[in-house]
Amino acid sequence: MPGKIWFVGAGPGDPDLITVKGRKLLEASGAVLFAGSLVDQAATLFAPDGCDIRDSKDMTLDEMTAWLIERAQRHETVVRLQTGDPGLYGALIEMTQPLTAAGIEWAVVPGVSSAMASMAAAGETLTLPEVTQTVILTRVAGRTPMPPGEDLESLAAHKTTLCIYLSITLLHKVQDALRAAGWADDAPILVVQKASWPGQEKIIRGTLADIKQKCQAEKVGSQAMIVASPTLGAADWPDLIRSKLYDPAFTHRFRKASPASAVTTEINP
Ligand code: SAH
Repeated sequence: MPGKIWFVGAGPGDPDLITVKGRKLLEASGAVLFAGSLVDQAATLFAPDGCDIRDSKDMTLDEMTAWLIERAQRHETVVRLQTGDPGLYGALIEMTQPLTAAGIEWAVVPGVSSAMASMAAAGETLTLPEVTQTVILTRVAGRTPMPPGEDLESLAAHKTTLCIYLSITLLHKVQDALRAAGWADDAPILVVQKASWPGQEKIIRGTLADIKQKCQAEKVGSQAMIVASPTLGAADWPDLIRSKLYDPAFTHRFRKASPASAVTTEINP
């Protein structure tokens, strides 16, 4: 019986941000294939002595698949360690299809994605009552084209939170798309490089007009998340609309409202 291959989300960089399940699998693994310099620290920290550890950065997809299949013949637990969450820009299905074809069991362990880590680093929120209740995770077209209907300009027209991956070298395209969608030049934009990496994280706050210059000045040209959101800077707003969840007049499954209450819901508002 071959072993099982686990696609584990390593989180955004800080080894402490891997899930407990992911860490336990690493500790039990006979072989680990990790995705480049983004996750090596977690791999070497938690993998046991004698574990067969390989960096995939110089490998093609076919070579990676062959490596995983071969290791699964010898080890009960094999880990493919990916940055952030494996299901976001992680070539997951391209890797799992040949495993299924080869009769090898696999499963996915989710991870903290860099969008969440970037907002956490900056003390910002992805959603805010009556400001935006929607988050779009996207990118601009690089070598990978965007499918029809998903160009940034049309997504930005919703004026929700946009977390833009893989696009820091295309910041001018992001600026053009947001302007074309009607975002003001003074709209706040956040860029976080190496979110959660101990000692290496950079947080750049700017506006649609000046974010590119600020990133250039700080030499931020890779491994960075771009966030455009009407929630940015809310920590300093004096007139914040508060969440109904904690409103004394709001009843939900776990708390009765004060007698004056008029609002009820069964699940989180
Ligand atoms: N699966 C990963 C994304 C891989 S695509 C995830 O869920 O986060 C690689 C892109 O993710 C980079 O171009 C960058 O936009 C973003 N990214 C990855 N790690 C990051 C980090 N620590 N800080 C900021 N952005 C990061």
